[in-house]
Amino acid sequence: MQANHYDVIIPGGGLAGLTLSIQLKRAMPNIKILVLERRKSEATIAAHKVGESTVELGSHYLRNVLGLKDYLEAHELPKHGLRFFFRSRNKADITTRLELGPRQWLPTPSHQLDRGTLENYLLQHTRSLGTEVILDAVAKDVAFGQEHHAFTYVQAKEEKTVTGRWVADTTGRGSFLKRKLGFEKPMEHHVNAVWWRLKGVIDIDKWSDNKDWQNYLVSGLRYLSTVHFLDKGYWVWVIPLGSKNTSIGIVADPAIHRFEDFNTYENAMEWLKKNEPLCYNMLEPETPNKLDFKILKHFAHDSGRAYDGGERWGVSGEAGAFLDPFYSPGTDFISLSNTFLSDLILRDLKGEDVQFRAEIYERTYLTLVNRWIPIYQNKYNLMGNPQIMVNKILWDWGLYWAVPCVLFTNNAFTDLRMLKQLFAAPDSLGQKFGKLHERMQQLFLDWLPYQNELFENRYIDPFDLNVMQQFQRNIDTAYGDKLLEQIAVNISLLEKIAAEVFRKVSAQVKGTPHDMPVNPYTMSLNGDYVPEPGTVDESYNVPPDEAIRKDVETMWFYPAKQTA
Ligand SMILES: Cc1cc2nc3c(=O)[nH]c(=O)nc-3n(C[C@H](O)[C@H](O)[C@H](O)COP(=O)(O)OP(=O)(O)OC[C@H]3O[C@@H](n4cnc5c(N)ncnc54)[C@H](O)[C@@H]3O)c2cc1C
Repeated sequence: MQANHYDVIIPGGGLAGLTLSIQLKRAMPNIKILVLERRKSEATIAAHKVGESTVELGSHYLRNVLGLKDYLEAHELPKHGLRFFFRSRNKADITTRLELGPRQWLPTPSHQLDRGTLENYLLQHTRSLGTEVILDAVAKDVAFGQEHHAFTYVQAKEEKTVTGRWVADTTGRGSFLKRKLGFEKPMEHHVNAVWWRLKGVIDIDKWSDNKDWQNYLVSGLRYLSTVHFLDKGYWVWVIPLGSKNTSIGIVADPAIHRFEDFNTYENAMEWLKKNEPLCYNMLEPETPNKLDFKILKHFAHDSGRAYDGGERWGVSGEAGAFLDPFYSPGTDFISLSNTFLSDLILRDLKGEDVQFRAEIYERTYLTLVNRWIPIYQNKYNLMGNPQIMVNKILWDWGLYWAVPCVLFTNNAFTDLRMLKQLFAAPDSLGQKFGKLHERMQQLFLDWLPYQNELFENRYIDPFDLNVMQQFQRNIDTAYGDKLLEQIAVNISLLEKIAAEVFRKVSAQVKGTPHDMPVNPYTMSLNGDYVPEPGTVDESYNVPPDEAIRKDVETMWFYPAKQTA
C-alpha cells in the first residue's frame, strides 16, 4: 500500500475525531488512519473547549466502547449527576431555591471532563494505537473518486495531497463536508452562550452556611454535579474540572435576554449581578483567576446529511448537528454518530456493500436529532417555572434513560433488524416513543399560561421516584434477545407517567376527574390536537396506576386539597 494512502482520513482532531480513530483502531488494529488537526500544539488545560459534562450514554461510550474507564477514573472527575436550582423570591439565598438533583451516587456513572487534559490524552493514546496524527494541518479540499478520494490539506504553509478510501469529517463548526457538499440546514432553535474558566475549585456547598441545607447530601458531592441555575429564558452552569479548575457558562434565549447584555466578561458580570446575584457574589471576586472568556452566538445547527455509503464519507460531532447543551447531550451525539460511522467503515473495508445500511443509519441519526428539537424549542420560556420544569426535567431524564440509553448500551443502533422493528411501522415502538414525547413537550407549553405559583425551599431527588431508579439502574443491563420486550415495558411506564402528569395538570387547570382514563398519544390540555388520520389508535386509554401515581405525586408541589 502507498505510504500516503489511508483507509480513513479524519479532518478534525477534536473529541469526535480522536474518539472515532480509537473506536476504529480497537475494532481493526491494522486500519490505516490519518487525523488532520488545525491546532498547532498541545491543547490548553481547562481553557480549551466546552463539552465538559457527560451523561450516561456518552460515558458508557467513553468507558466501555473506547475502554477509557481507567483513564477517566484516574484523571477526570466522577460526576454527581445533573443538579438544578430554580427561581425563588430571594435568589441570593441558595437555600430558598427548589433544588433538583441526586443525593446518592447514581448507579450508572458519568464524568466531568477537562477537555484540554482529555484531548491531549486521546491524541497520545490514538498515536500509540498506530493512528497518524498531524497537527497544524488544515483540511482544504477533497475530490471524491471511485476507488479512493484525493484529499488536500495545508501544513506549515505547504499544500499536500493524500488519498483515502473514506473521509470522516469531524471538523466541528468548521463543517468541512457540509460546506463542500452544501448540506447545511438551519435550526429553528435560537440560543446564545458565553463561558469562562476560573482557576481553582468552586464548592457550591459553601454558598450557604445553612447546615440543614448542606446536609441534604453528603459533603463534597454537590459540587461534583453539573450545577444549573435557572430562570426565565436562561440557565447558568457551574462545572468542576479534574485539573482543579471550574467552568462557568451562561446560555440564554435572545427573545428574552439580549446577547449584548452578557457578551463580554464585564457585561456578563453585570448580567449576573442582575439575574443571578449569588453567582455574581461568589464568582466576581474570582476575576483575577479568570483563564479565558468565549462567546458563541446562535450555535444550534442542523444537518441535511450524515453518511454516504456509496461515496464513502460521513460526519460526526458538531460537523453534523448540535442542538443545545442543556442536559449535556453533546458527547452522546458524538457516541451515536461515531458508532454509525465506524460500523459503516469497518463493514466496507471487509468488503460489504454498505449503501443501504448507510441510508438507514442516516435516517435514524437525522430522526433522532429531529425528535430532540422539541426538548429545547420554545422551552426557555418555561425555565422560570419550577413546577413545570421539575416535571419536564424528570420526564426528559426518564425517557432518555429508558429508551436511547438502553438501545445504545445494547448495540441496537447498528442492528438493522432491530432498527426496522423499532421504527418501520407507524405503530412501532420507536414511532410511539416519538409521538408520546411530542405530546408531553406540548403539554409543558400548554400548561404555562395556567401555572404561576412559585414553589421554593424544597429538595427533590430523581431517585425519590421509584420508576426513575428503575430506569437509571438498568441502563447498562444487557438484555440480549429480550431487548425489544424491555423497550416495550419502558415505553408502557412512560405512557403511564405521561397519562398521570396529564391527569394532574388537567384536574388542576380544567377541573377534570383525577381518575379519568387518558390517551397519552392524543392528550391535549386545550383539546385542540387533531392527530393525522390513521397515525394513532384513538381508542387507546391508560387508566391510573397506583405506583406511578405515587411517583408523579413527588413532583407535584400543590397542597393536597387543591388537587382533590
Ligand atoms: C455552550 C456549549 C456548551 C456545551 N457543553 C457541553 C457539555 O457540557 N457536554 C457535552 O457533552 N457537550 C457540550 N457541548 C457540545 C460539545 O462542545 C461538542 O459536542 C463537542 O465539543 C464537539 O466535538 P467535535 O469533535 O465535534 O468538535 P470540536 O471539539 O470543535 O473539534 C473539531 C476540531 O476540528 C478542528 N478543525 C476545524 N476545522 C478544521 C480544518 N479545516 N482542518 C483541520 N482541523 C480542523 C478544530 O481545531 C477542532 O479541534 C457544548 C456546546 C456548546 C456550544
